[in-house]
Amino acid sequence: MPHRAASTIRELLDRNRQWAESRAEEDPTFFARHAAGQAPPFLYVGCSDSRVPPTDIVAAGPGDLFVTRNIANLVKPDDIGLRSVLEYGVHVLKVEHVIVCGHTECGGVMASLADDPLPGFLGAWLHSLRQLAERSREELSTLEGKACVDRMVELNVESQVRTLAQLDVMKRAWDSGRQLQIHGWVYGLDGGRVRDLLTLTAENQTQEVIAAE
Ligand code: ZN
Repeated sequence: MPHRAASTIRELLDRNRQWAESRAEEDPTFFARHAAGQAPPFLYVGCSDSRVPPTDIVAAGPGDLFVTRNIANLVKPDDIGLRSVLEYGVHVLKVEHVIVCGHTECGGVMASLADDPLPGFLGAWLHSLRQLAERSREELSTLEGKACVDRMVELNVESQVRTLAQLDVMKRAWDSGRQLQIHGWVYGLDGGRVRDLLTLTAENQTQEVIAAE
């Protein structure tokens, strides 16, 4: 059945009631289990885009992913919201994998390639992405339209993964012998498939590993 978008708050609340009832019916201990605590193996850093719902795209459920999202899935060392999610996810929940997931047709990435920066907070937020686009100008100038945006989406994910690997929160986990991995993904809005771009581990964190599709 095609998905019908909800447009009113009433609809959302009705859907919530139906969801809660059907979950409890299918799995009577579902809510009791979750009330007892969480132990997700994955921490997901993604874009706020409504078309890329983290739990849905990997057919996961409540309790599977510890999530933070922002425009264009950026990892900024001075973002205390992100840093606190990382601290809690890596050192308290002890996730085994951190996933940075970008996506095709990303509005934030497109804005970073536009001639003029966006005004206000959006422009300030995307400043570092514009700098990355500037540093990659030579390569990007050989590409046009969708190919250029797609490549910038990849460059962005790679850059955020690399920044993540430099943070002390990761270094501490690796130094203590944990087999924590950082993964860079790109979700394709055309078809819904995730492409696994690179994985950094305690052993290879200083080098890039581009995996085959
Ligand atoms: Zn996006």
